[in-house]
Amino acid sequence: MKIKQNENLKSYNTFNLAATAQNFISIFNENDIYSVLVEDLKPLKIIGGGSNILITKDIEAYVLKNEIKGIDIIDEDDESIMVEVGAGEQWHNFVMWCISHRLGGLENLSLIPGSVGAAPMQNIGAYGVEQESCFHSLTAIHLESGIRSTFFKHQCKFGYRESIFKNEVKDQYIITKVKYILNKINHKLNLDYGAIKEMLALNHIVTPTIKDVSDVVIKIRQSKLPDPQIIGNAGSFFKNPVIALSHYNELKTTYDKIPCFLVNDNSVKVPAGWLIENIGYKGFVRGQVGVHKDQALVLVNHGNGQGREIYALALEIIDKVRETYNIELTAEVNIW
Ligand code: FAD
Ligand code: NAP
Repeated sequence: MKIKQNENLKSYNTFNLAATAQNFISIFNENDIYSVLVEDLKPLKIIGGGSNILITKDIEAYVLKNEIKGIDIIDEDDESIMVEVGAGEQWHNFVMWCISHRLGGLENLSLIPGSVGAAPMQNIGAYGVEQESCFHSLTAIHLESGIRSTFFKHQCKFGYRESIFKNEVKDQYIITKVKYILNKINHKLNLDYGAIKEMLALNHIVTPTIKDVSDVVIKIRQSKLPDPQIIGNAGSFFKNPVIALSHYNELKTTYDKIPCFLVNDNSVKVPAGWLIENIGYKGFVRGQVGVHKDQALVLVNHGNGQGREIYALALEIIDKVRETYNIELTAEVNIW
């Protein structure tokens, strides 16, 4: 365990926002967590890679930085393998470990920033795959009682960028380890997203391997998404809203180009980026903060912006989207 006082959080969040944490504790194993709980240090806030938080003020709580590492094979048969991963491992490093061991399941989730422990929090997803498709269970410690529990898949209530940890038991647990099951053979690749198919064709790949898919996902992401090392951001700021098909058909009479993806017979998902771009916010700049010039779903810090300025802009966009389309956007990013 390593304790620091008055730590600047700028290098711990991908928006690159400066803010002071009065107490910043790096934890390396579960015993470190028990030591923190025994000392009754409260309140606690957990940070992984800081790629899905917007810090709007200095933090008076004890910030616990999860540094629990390790990738261990727990079980294996001819077809699949179960691995347990420390919550402080970087997600992308874990995916690369899977690729190098020719294990299928998470290749579409290559290059997503952040830690393994945060992946079940919002059931990370990209290019038609969510982490729940390979998830087996996780270990978490209750921050009040210190009780260590296992949460199996059905208990996590995974949904679109959702889980029980973002809702019913929000801020109550620290996730310490996650188990995933990966395919050794007969893995069915998910190539449904247009961009993947196009990039494979461009590279003349007819029968792609797990690694080919990972490589093209990395290429697409590097060409489209802003790199937080260059411009501060936390990926998609808002979730894509799911609306009733009747509401969508009504909107279509005014906005004939409004895109949608069918969710079920009665509802559709509308890309929030399109809604925001269509009301003129793409590339919008106010002082040091704004909306990314190529990707309207991504709010950015151009340098020395403040978290509260980004938050104010987010609220303004939510209001404008509601006024224009009668659609309520919700933040995907966690507001601190
Ligand atoms: P943090 O930002 O550190 O934390 C996020 C939340 O989880 C906080 O509330 C924190 O308290 C809590 N938390 C973190 N670790 C733990 C733990 N061990 N136990 C309990 N609570 C915890 N997301 C996607 O789903 N798909 C994408 O394709 C995607 N692309 C992105 C691209 C970019 C450029 C960026 C910057 C972000 C992107 N994201 C994406 C969002 C982000 O990468 C993920 O949500 C990621 O899982 C966050 O991990 P983190 O460790 O950085 O979490
Ligand atoms: P994109 O491919 O330009 O697509 C725009 C939107 O349309 C996405 O939000 C996606 O929804 C939806 N979409 C596209 N093709 C679809 C299909 N075949 N079926 C269903 N929905 C489809 O998006 P992008 O911004 O470049 O991102 C690519 C992928 O990475 C997406 O899956 C996105 O979610 C993910 N990503 C997430 C974050 C984050 O912070 N959460 C950041 C960057 C990228 P979905 O978002 O539901 O997939």
